[in-house]
Amino acid sequence: ENSVAFQLMDIHEQAVTLYHHILVNTELGRPALDYLKKRGLTDDTIEKYHLGFAPGQRLLKPFFDEKKTDFQLLRKSGLFSENDSGDLYDRFVDRVMFPIRNENGKTVAFSGRLLNKQPDLPKYLNSPETEIFNKRKVLFNLDSARLSIRKNDPAILLEGFMDVISADQAGIHSGIASMGTSLTDEQVYDISRITNEVVISYDGDTPGQKAIKRAIDSFANNSKVAVKIVTVPDNLDPDEFIRQRGTDQFMELVKHAASPIDFELNYLKKQYNLESEVDSGNYISEALTVIAKESSPITRDLYLNKVASEFNVSKELLSSRLETLAASNQ
Ligand code: ATP
Ligand code: MN
Ligand code: MN
Ligand code: MN
Repeated sequence: ENSVAFQLMDIHEQAVTLYHHILVNTELGRPALDYLKKRGLTDDTIEKYHLGFAPGQRLLKPFFDEKKTDFQLLRKSGLFSENDSGDLYDRFVDRVMFPIRNENGKTVAFSGRLLNKQPDLPKYLNSPETEIFNKRKVLFNLDSARLSIRKNDPAILLEGFMDVISADQAGIHSGIASMGTSLTDEQVYDISRITNEVVISYDGDTPGQKAIKRAIDSFANNSKVAVKIVTVPDNLDPDEFIRQRGTDQFMELVKHAASPIDFELNYLKKQYNLESEVDSGNYISEALTVIAKESSPITRDLYLNKVASEFNVSKELLSSRLETLAASNQ
């Protein structure tokens, strides 16, 4: 029921305040604060995102007990783990805390990042699903980014929280990120309600590039949103790129973002040895299946020209094959 949701959000608000206080005002939080500073975050940014630190297993339970918060409510909050005897202890231990807000700006979950790599523990740990947190639905920073998107800034879909925060600090306020999973249909739908154009900029590494391909397909199958793609060079992620090369260079990438077809052709190309005739032939036939997905015959023709002249093969030869493929896609 509704009031449970309200109370769960209230618990989260209190946890945000406590974690943040520990990060910025206490000795316990010092290593985490140093870590964030070393990653280039300013005090303002740490303040704006209410970043925090979760120091140990026995922080939240005594804190909420003192406030006489209902035990069953605490169990439902996702902030605790339960041991065999039914005791609650903190789910997030030794982690930098990122509050996750819903589209109304209410904190409904956390993601916690380890300061240092630990072999058996996940780098980021999210809250579990609760009455107020559906991770397939939430987009990090959407509540804030929508204001800037409304002013006609391009919506920029990034891979991680740090990318969004780093971009925001650098003056790019329209960044959003899914919750560390691949983009869901629900998220595509929510994006389509606020904009008809999105720029996808995931990490330059292989998983990032694969995820871009999946995101392109989700937008194409579930929305009319026009998609453009920024490929971040040198295996950097957007956070690293922005810090190393600056905002202007990133915005330059955004300005020259590729169409989905260009992205897919480039991606494909890297998998072939184009010095070899056999490989080039294979690339060209794969490229035709990519181009065939384009519904406009004129656009198909433009891309066909490109491929034909790039490899100096007869356009007529490719054309009939392309049109057969295109017809079977309709
Ligand atoms: P950082 O810069 O802090 O290392 P990142 O955003 O670059 O973080 P990536 O490894 O690129 O991290 O992962 C992108 C996103 O995927 C993260 O922001 C997080 O949401 C999610 N993620 C990464 N690793 C894990 C993990 N082990 N478990 C759950 N989610 C994860
Ligand atoms: Mn990544
Ligand atoms: Mn990163
Ligand atoms: Mn990354």
